[in-house]
Amino acid sequence: MLDELMSEISEGKIKRVELEYVDILGYLRSCLLSAEKFLESRTGSFDSSSVKISSISDSDALLVPDPSTSIVIGEDCRMLCEIWEGMGSRRSSKDPRFIARRTEEFLLSQGYRGHLGVEMEFFVLDGDLKPISNGWNGRKNYMISPPLDPLRDFEIEAMERLSRAQLKPEVIHHEVSTGQLEVSLAADSLLRAADSTIRAKREIREVAKEMGLIATFMPKPVPGMNGSGMHFHMSLWDDKGNLFYDPNDEYAELSQLARYFIGGILEHIGSLAAIVAPTVNSYRRLVPGFEAPVYASWGRGNRSAAIRIPVYKRGSPRSKRMEFRVPDPSCNPYLAFSATFMAGIDGIRRKIDPGDPTDFNVYERNEGLKRLPRSLNEALDELESDNSYLKPVFESDMLESYLEMKRREVMELSQWPSEAEYESYLSV
Ligand code: GLN
Ligand code: MG
Ligand code: MG
Ligand code: MG
Repeated sequence: MLDELMSEISEGKIKRVELEYVDILGYLRSCLLSAEKFLESRTGSFDSSSVKISSISDSDALLVPDPSTSIVIGEDCRMLCEIWEGMGSRRSSKDPRFIARRTEEFLLSQGYRGHLGVEMEFFVLDGDLKPISNGWNGRKNYMISPPLDPLRDFEIEAMERLSRAQLKPEVIHHEVSTGQLEVSLAADSLLRAADSTIRAKREIREVAKEMGLIATFMPKPVPGMNGSGMHFHMSLWDDKGNLFYDPNDEYAELSQLARYFIGGILEHIGSLAAIVAPTVNSYRRLVPGFEAPVYASWGRGNRSAAIRIPVYKRGSPRSKRMEFRVPDPSCNPYLAFSATFMAGIDGIRRKIDPGDPTDFNVYERNEGLKRLPRSLNEALDELESDNSYLKPVFESDMLESYLEMKRREVMELSQWPSEAEYESYLSV
């Protein structure tokens, strides 16, 4: 693969190489190398202190491209990179792709391969940050079709661009809220799924930009409307097939292993929230009444639960999975996928019983259920006290940096009065 690419570069078919990497907060960053420079160096170099991956006094880091991630778009070749430090002697423990790779290796050491597919929701806004509307302002736009879907051209273009970048889009549709869309990507191995998720956000933003619009992945951009989640559809496989499937289980054709996996996620859900719902804005979404979870519960087809087992049809071992509904698209997918798999594996190791499923509206009936954190600060408290399940793949310096950056984010944002506060308090 690399040989083929190198010859296309030297033949001049590829004019530029874009080296991409991901920082701790999940921003995709990149630099453009001329073909000549890439042929000569085969790597990139950067100041990793500018993206908080290292300190200012030890900031030289190397970008080592992973050729299996290469995509050629016109005359450009994009490659996601590994981050190496210590004069190129070791991978950075704060490289999110390294954490995802380590999680894959950890899963393999336990005899599993993780599969994950996302549904990503987002809003499309005009230049004044107003959601694109068909005049129906409210929460009734789920899968609305043209001409009432004002964004069908956007959806078609997004499907085109996501396919061109080999990101395996499966379904795109209008979501419940005004100006809200959803795209789902095919399930893949953990690292590849994270690569696709991060690249899909870029493609979608580019579509919006070309149309003079803005795509936002912030979880709750509009008060009173459903927010944007990013549900993880997860399963564990071995050579014989999907380990979550058990045709003899009456409830949901779900294996005991899957139940323990769910038990682990519910056990660590408060701490996980700090990674899968990692912004101050995330907690404006996790409130009752908007199809987003509020309690640590699981159920079949229950969209008020934190974990749902889809049960569309019987007898489909390939698609048996659990859907984790707490995450939102502001998360760093490498860290979020890794942490969630680690929590599930801890459940398997400790045989954690997830308790009885809830097949009722848990916004209304929730006695005895653990509540999700109410704020990022609460979630960070939980992450600080419950993180040993992450230790095999998250090194302490990474966890410390993450906590520090997120605490600072909370501090900074807490000092900004919001529009609603002016409305409520201007005349107190
Ligand atoms: N928008 C909801 C959320 O915040 C999900 C709605 C749905 O996909 N049914 O998670
Ligand atoms: Mg969906
Ligand atoms: Mg949805
Ligand atoms: Mg879903």
